Amino acid sequence: MEVVEQARVSTRSESVTKPQATRESACLEIRNAAFLGRVLEPPKYGYANADGTLYKPSRKEIFSLFAERLNVFADKRNWLAFTAWVAAFALAGFFIRFVTSHYFSWPLFFLGLVYSMVCLGTHGTIFLHRYSTHHAYNFKNEFWKGVCRNLSIKVIPEEIYVISHHVHHSISDKPGDPYNPEAGWLYCFLADANHQPVARDLTETEYTRMAALMKHTGVKVNTYAQYKRWGSLCHPLRTVTHYILNWAAWYGIFFLIGGHALALAIFAMSAIWAFGVRTFNFDGHGGGRDKRTDGVDFHRKDLAINQIWPGYVAGEWHNNHHLYPNGARSGFLPHQLDLAWIFIRSWNRLGLVSNYRDYKEDFLEKHYRPYQQALQLQRLEVAATLKVGKATPLATQPPN
Ligand SMILES: [Zn+2]
Ligand SMILES: [Zn+2]
Repeated sequence: MEVVEQARVSTRSESVTKPQATRESACLEIRNAAFLGRVLEPPKYGYANADGTLYKPSRKEIFSLFAERLNVFADKRNWLAFTAWVAAFALAGFFIRFVTSHYFSWPLFFLGLVYSMVCLGTHGTIFLHRYSTHHAYNFKNEFWKGVCRNLSIKVIPEEIYVISHHVHHSISDKPGDPYNPEAGWLYCFLADANHQPVARDLTETEYTRMAALMKHTGVKVNTYAQYKRWGSLCHPLRTVTHYILNWAAWYGIFFLIGGHALALAIFAMSAIWAFGVRTFNFDGHGGGRDKRTDGVDFHRKDLAINQIWPGYVAGEWHNNHHLYPNGARSGFLPHQLDLAWIFIRSWNRLGLVSNYRDYKEDFLEKHYRPYQQALQLQRLEVAATLKVGKATPLATQPPN
């Protein structure tokens, strides 16, 4: 299979000088940031204080907005956040049923936990993160994209994830970041309702530009008139139908394999991921504190960190990911297991993924090896200093 490597082919004329190109790229970045600054519906408490510093809302303000944003009776345009939380609580219902019924057993509990953490986690990285948001690879055709999209129980609507995640990368850990960890755990946990829904006052041009961010995902986006009505890119009828068909198919498959006991256990334990994933954005950026480690976290523009648990269960080596956001792999070092990458690479070998971007060599060349060399040099210098220190007293001993 052909692999699209990291090098980007420039279509610019040779006569464009480097400083000019840099200025143009900076302007493009500013225009892009300005656009992304518009695409999410701002919370009523705002993102920043008058002096531009982060506004940290109280728990009361966060809960109050959360209740408002889920109220579909007050405004039907709240339907998407409402649907996502209904899905999470439906899974919680499966959980209660499982642990209180005769179907419960510890082996099924742990099997369901593995499905929840590894299968849902890795699938989220493969489809929602690396494909839908960052378009790090391409499928052979629409069929295999559809298969991949439905390879696990549907928990998060694509739109909620994708648009806000572009904003996150654009202004990580700054006011306006939908899950800014410095504003606290609750701010991030309820972000999908409070900070991640798309803006409702976009012009048709802005809407078209936002819709383009979703065009490859398989989600059929609304017309501008439908967007004005429903306040979203996806249509409620299609989205709810997708949830029902996806859940029915997966319950049926697990039922055929292991009866109600297995199907119930899988759906029940999926609730752990449905709620747990909402804590990742806070923890993945150190909970708002600088937890970056030299020699581990090479990206220094924000607080993203590489963590063992999300790395191992879902391939989310988040610091590496911020270093190369549009790469299909984020586990670069031998100990950084990346199941999502293994899946993408396997599908590439099977011919189902046509191309991908891989930055491992770039990472090793520009970040890891220079760090190791500097470390080695430092060790040699220390050893040499110690040797000189030991040798000096002998050399200066007075002769007998
Ligand atoms: Zn991040
Ligand atoms: Zn990302």
